[in-house]
Amino acid sequence: MKLSVSFVVSALFAVLNTANALQVVLDDSHPPHHAFGLKNAPLEHRIQQFSHVTADPVELYKLVDPDGAADLNEPRLLKIWGEQEAEWLTEGDKLRLHRQGLKFTDITETRNLGQKNKVKVQAATEFPEISYGTKIRDVISHLSAHDMRDNLEKLTSFFNRFYKSENGGASSHWLYLQVLTYIIAKADPTIPLSIRKFTHSFPQSSIIARFEPRYPSSNKTAAVIIGAHQDSANYLHPLLPAPGADDDGSGTVTILEAFRVLVERNLTPEYPVEFHWYAGEEGGLLGSRPIAAEYEMLGRDVRGMLQFDMTAYTKTNHTPTVAFITTDVNTPLTEYAVSLSKEYADYPVQLAKLFPRAGSDHMSWHDAGYKAGFATEGDPYTEFDPYVHTSVNDTMYLPDGEFSFEHALEFSKVAVAFAVELGGCM
Ligand SMILES: [Zn+2]
Repeated sequence: MKLSVSFVVSALFAVLNTANALQVVLDDSHPPHHAFGLKNAPLEHRIQQFSHVTADPVELYKLVDPDGAADLNEPRLLKIWGEQEAEWLTEGDKLRLHRQGLKFTDITETRNLGQKNKVKVQAATEFPEISYGTKIRDVISHLSAHDMRDNLEKLTSFFNRFYKSENGGASSHWLYLQVLTYIIAKADPTIPLSIRKFTHSFPQSSIIARFEPRYPSSNKTAAVIIGAHQDSANYLHPLLPAPGADDDGSGTVTILEAFRVLVERNLTPEYPVEFHWYAGEEGGLLGSRPIAAEYEMLGRDVRGMLQFDMTAYTKTNHTPTVAFITTDVNTPLTEYAVSLSKEYADYPVQLAKLFPRAGSDHMSWHDAGYKAGFATEGDPYTEFDPYVHTSVNDTMYLPDGEFSFEHALEFSKVAVAFAVELGGCM
């Protein structure tokens, strides 16, 4: 079956591969609408051209970008969300699954995640009483929707943030520099802060920014982790544009803004507080799983992890909320995050089930045996952004206030509260 398809495709390719066809493909008269990704405009044309030849995204990839497609036959062990067992498929099958709207975890390199922690006595997390009201209200009074908008405008101007592409590498480097030069470099030098590029086998890096306790204590080494994923994906074809404004540009700038104000207001936590921007979530949690695996391998404890994925979409005629997912999460941590949100956010708070075929990076921490939760824009069944993963429609320019920075800012308040209340404050 596969052979005959590729034979037909090669034959058609040979016919199409005339001077005339190539001229159409290479002649880029497309207006430059993505400031950072001009190089990819010819690719976009090629995809349009050759999508008439094959409906299969893998065959299409081979025609359009043979070098980039070199790994598509590699076997990968994937756990499709909603299925019980992992199965051996290929790197290219990921594209086919995305075409069907399916997501998955790629466990090929992290098959043992959670095994060491299963037999380890975890440091007990007692979720502390809410006690930093004055401090937290001061910090959140400095949050700015304006800064979030500027950052998201930049982030979504990359052609896409596909983790395996040059664009995905460039967007991740931009984010790294943004954290470093726009926030850390301006910090009070007495605050111990660090930033780390967590590199992967693909061009996009995960980014970890960390507040170190000023007076480290051997019984307070467990980290508080706040996360979002920086990559975006066009499920039609990964080389097509994917602004990923809501998924998960919104979470990325939500936690970036929380980090900015915590630095500006001189957070001095008792426990390490970390902000993670994960690469490759759409490739099967390829950023967060190796990070969680490293923490597990090094025997590091985590006090609590909270993921922010999709924080800005506001469905017309629905009251906007701060929602917490109840599936694949730690329930006490989720209840604690709910109580923090009720205390510090201004929108109503709701609990919601996730449909079986959805998820995010908190699952990596959950699978590793750490306490993790997931905050998002609404009830997935009725209030999620319908434009995510589709060609160019996941933008911040939706009609009727459907994309709301005010909504996202509520989640920045939750991130600040989570950092300060769970991380402690001196
Ligand atoms: Zn997402």
